[in-house]
Formats: sequence, structure tokens, C-alpha cells
Amino acid sequence: MNKNRTPMIAGNWKMHLNVKEAGELALALKKGLDPDLKHEVLVAPAFTNLWAVNAALSGSKILLSSQDVHWEEKGAFTGAVSPAQVRDAGCTHAIIGHSERRKIFLETDGIINKKLKAAVKYGLTPVLCIGETLEEREAQSTYRVLETQLAGAFAGLKPGEVSKVVIAYEPVWAIGTGKTATPEQAQDAHLFVRRQLEKLYGKNYAGGVRILYGGSVKADNIDSLMAQPDIDGALVGGESLKADKFLRVIHFQEVLKAG
Ligand code: PEP
Repeated sequence: MNKNRTPMIAGNWKMHLNVKEAGELALALKKGLDPDLKHEVLVAPAFTNLWAVNAALSGSKILLSSQDVHWEEKGAFTGAVSPAQVRDAGCTHAIIGHSERRKIFLETDGIINKKLKAAVKYGLTPVLCIGETLEEREAQSTYRVLETQLAGAFAGLKPGEVSKVVIAYEPVWAIGTGKTATPEQAQDAHLFVRRQLEKLYGKNYAGGVRILYGGSVKADNIDSLMAQPDIDGALVGGESLKADKFLRVIHFQEVLKAG
């Protein structure tokens, strides 16, 4: 059992919910959370809902994340939100490089690298998303894609700067499709990611990094995913919008891990 890595369950609320709805969902999670829960829980509402969710979560252990962040502190960047601003709104974490940002907003590994550096500089813990598309998996390119995305995101970052980074392995073909990777497929990719991190920053570092799985995680598949030795948590989209379902994901049943 990997006792050295604290599990993390994160909810990505994407472009859903208004201020009232997001506040209500946060309150329901706060109410339903086991007060003795040892692992970390994170929610990532839309920028406009951060402040209200932060207020609703006051007094709870649930942490707040933005879904993205710009790399500059301030200036003429219409539509962008800076690391200092998301911190000010109560965030401790920032999701960076989500596949929807890569695909729809054409974010490259270079942009993601700048965002990662900025998040670290301003004291935010990055949740770095990586993952292959269906075409890439079918072309047997999964490992190459993961290697390239990791090398690009971490370029120029020193070991001391990446100590808090959380990785989310999210196969693009599994996001929002209801098609979850099997626990074995996910474990295989997670182990590969950990080995790449080992090459970049050494065994000690790689052994301590949390690698979350994302892609159609549900109340009824979280337990088998979490049973894998290199799966340290989940980044959850659709299922994190329903309090009862997300609470079940959060309170996954711990099973002894093989590793
Ligand atoms: C996500 O948004 O990162 C995600 C994994 O979504 P879903 O759980 O809906 O597949």
C-alpha cells in the first residue's frame, strides 16, 4: 500500500453552474464530507464562481482550484486570469493543460510550461493534465505522447520548483465519453508517467508525486481504479456535479494496493 502518497479526489466543474448552484453544491459537499477523511479533496469551479464557493467551503477541508491560469501577473491580457488573482479568490491549486484547453484553445506544451512556471512562482499547486487521444492510442503512440507532454511541461523547472505538482493522466478518449480506461490500462500509463518523472527528477521525487486518473470516473468505478498501486486519486468531471455521486467518489472504498 502506498502510504507515502496522500490520495486526492478533484472535481472539475468546467463551464457549468451559476453562482448560486456552485455555492449550493459546495455546501452539500462540505456537509457530506467525512470529518475524519484523511485524503485531499479539491473542487475547480468556473472563475466567476470561485469567490462564492470559497465562502461556502469556509471551515471545511475542501480545497479550491482554478480550471486554468494565465502566466503573467497582470496587464493587457483580455479574458485571462492571473495566478495572483486566483490565489486572491481563495485558490491553492490550478488545473493546467486540460485536454479541452489543448484542443479547443490550442494550448501547446510551450504555453503549458509557462503556466506551470507561473503557478509555481505564485505559490499555486499545479494539477498538470496529460493524456493521449484515441488516434494516438490506436497508433501505439501513447507513451511517446506522454513523454513529450511531460518533457514540454517541465522544461526548465528545477526539482525544488516541482515538488508540489500533481499530475492528472486523462486519456482524451475517456473524458466525458462514459468510456473509462480499465484499471489495468490506467495503471500501465501511470507507471509509465512515474518512470518518466524518475528520469526527469529521480526516484525519490517520482515516488512521491500524486498521479490522478481522469476520464469518466464514476461512483461505480472509483474503487477498482483506486486499487491500482500507481493511481493516487481522480480528476472527475461530470460525476463531480452531483453531490451524492461525487461524495461516493470522494469516499472511495480503500482496498489494499498491490504495490
Ligand atoms: C475532466 O473534466 O477532466 C474529466 C475527466 O471529465 P469526465 O469525468 O466527465 O470524463
